[in-house]
Amino acid sequence: MTEIFTGSFTQQEPIPEAGIEAALSVLRSGRLHRYNLTEGELGEAALLEQEFAAQMGAKYCLAVTSGGYALSTALRAAGVKPGEPVLTNAFTLAPVPGAIASIGAQPLFVEVNEALTIDLDDLAAKVERAGVLLLSHMRGHLCDMDQLMRICTDAGVIVIEDCAHTMGATWNGVPSGRHGVVGCYSCQTYKHVNSGEGGLLVTDDEEIAARAVILSGSYMLYDRHLAAPSAEVFERVKYDTPNISGRMDNLRAAILRPQLRVLDRQVSRWNDRYRVLEAGLRGTPGLRVIDRPEAEHFVGSSFQVLLPDWTADNVRAVLSRCAARGVELKWFGAPEPQGFTSRYDSWRYVASEPMPQTDRVLAGILDMRVPLTFSVEDCALVARIIRAEVSAVFQGCPAKT
Ligand SMILES: *Cc1c(COP(=O)(O)O)cnc(C)c1O
Repeated sequence: MTEIFTGSFTQQEPIPEAGIEAALSVLRSGRLHRYNLTEGELGEAALLEQEFAAQMGAKYCLAVTSGGYALSTALRAAGVKPGEPVLTNAFTLAPVPGAIASIGAQPLFVEVNEALTIDLDDLAAKVERAGVLLLSHMRGHLCDMDQLMRICTDAGVIVIEDCAHTMGATWNGVPSGRHGVVGCYSCQTYKHVNSGEGGLLVTDDEEIAARAVILSGSYMLYDRHLAAPSAEVFERVKYDTPNISGRMDNLRAAILRPQLRVLDRQVSRWNDRYRVLEAGLRGTPGLRVIDRPEAEHFVGSSFQVLLPDWTADNVRAVLSRCAARGVELKWFGAPEPQGFTSRYDSWRYVASEPMPQTDRVLAGILDMRVPLTFSVEDCALVARIIRAEVSAVFQGCPAKT
């Protein structure tokens, strides 16, 4: 009997009841704007920032409209100027080079390796050419963060972390987003907490924090924040920092607070599913699972494997055979951007140098989401289907590994 998978790769869990209750209460109050507070009221957005700062062990936190907005705000607040190069990994998603382009700066791509992380040798070779690295922990894979920070610190390069896929992850016990000067997170539906859209930014740098608050559109109401620096810091920056509206509202903040309280539990549920997929696929002929380093405590909200040096036709055959059995895989080797899988050479506003190593890795990456609506048994079934179809294609063409 041929097994078929019938789950949806895009169906998230419902918002927890506590979030629904809190959202209704904001709706009933009518005070959705974060600065619309009654006497003594703290507001959901300010409380969210206070709680997330504490959770990440950061001094300051700002909640904004999206993860991409958090990235562009971090770059601006860190003083990146139009025309400047900004280092970033070539394997990432469109909002990352987009955030760099949005402030008129120029992405300067760094190669990715077979661990799906930034190539530290290529970074070391290029680090002198820029003042900032926007590091994207793409699909939740963390590079050796200690080594990366050494390279950047020695060169005087500021690191801004894109933690869209690593909220809740750590490297050697340090939360993702706390190695660089700023950590940016997304609260969009497909990430680790879900408010539809939304973003968070954390930092210990008081001037960056103050500028970010003003950039987000604080109308000089910064004293209504609970995780922002003191008034003197704002005095120093407030007249030369533009308002580029991108505030979080109380409704979305209310939905997010209860989700952040159970983040660790969600992370272990994701990892239970990830480990089942990994165990089910390890040892499949022609397929390589990605080894995860000991120091990395990751969040298995998505799963990748490599079909190293396969021909495009054979990869396509695997994709269509899996799709016929209900398993939706994304491929980063397709020449045209599809859905969320666009690649560096489809961002034609960037004059990229050749990226031969990245091209080779991207040509073999299969990627899938692991929503928490999948059971552990669902993951075992998905792994059986991928294993069978990869084996069938691989055995059908032994000449071409
Ligand atoms: C989703 C995502 C972002 C940006 O998040 P939005 O909230 O959609 O703006 C940034 N980087 C990566 C890698 C992402 O997947």
